[in-house]
Amino acid sequence: MALIELRNVRKVYRQGDLEVEVLKGIDLSIERGEFVSIMGPSGSGKSTLMYILGCLDRPTSGEYILDGRNVLELSDEELSKLRAEYIGFVFQAFYLVPYLNVLDNVVLPVEYLPKERRRELFSKVSPEERAKELLSRLGMEERLSFKPEELSGGQKQRTAIARALINSPEIILADEPTGQLDTASGRAVLEIFKELNSEGKTVVVVTHDPEVARQAKRVIRIQDGAIVG
Ligand code: ADP
Ligand code: MG
Repeated sequence: MALIELRNVRKVYRQGDLEVEVLKGIDLSIERGEFVSIMGPSGSGKSTLMYILGCLDRPTSGEYILDGRNVLELSDEELSKLRAEYIGFVFQAFYLVPYLNVLDNVVLPVEYLPKERRRELFSKVSPEERAKELLSRLGMEERLSFKPEELSGGQKQRTAIARALINSPEIILADEPTGQLDTASGRAVLEIFKELNSEGKTVVVVTHDPEVARQAKRVIRIQDGAIVG
């Protein structure tokens, strides 16, 4: 079975007196180790889909099977554990905690890991050591004690990527991760995702950049809440 399996996923949002169907029956399977890009116009439902994939939100109806587990049958607490174990999420707007330095931002998600998984991951190396390794690998070793406001866009996004990787998730979801970056930083960030994928991570990137989409092995096009190709 695929790592990610969505079946007939619908999402309805209430907007004032209206109910708006933003996802209209999405069927999607993603295999372990795939690099998939999602493209589509603004407002077509890409972020809504990513939030559902990332267990940050639930569909109104349909099924989501993540590594054989029926996500929609889980309680909020179980869902949040599943998310901490499987998902690294990278946002366009970074969402770093402004009053924490780079190192503390990266270590933060460890708090939400189930205990057994935390023991498994951090028995030999502490979360701080692991964070430092990741940040060095991303060229951020000189910035550990910097606050987010002291970083460039590219540095913020590399911090956010390290944070997404701290729990060694199988799946990296990135929603327009280069949207706020200049071309060079954007390319550098893209290289990181390619490298992570070549190491076995399953990567899903929402992008408007045809160059990024070219790198992906599969491009999913979404329009008006439906997959069109
Ligand atoms: P995209 O990421 O492709 O730009 P989104 O998934 O963010 O699209 O949004 C799809 C549609 O859903 C838009 O019309 C947006 O206004 C609406 N929408 C998104 N989030 C909410 C929300 N929390 N409540 C109501 N409507 C929403
Ligand atoms: Mg979006």
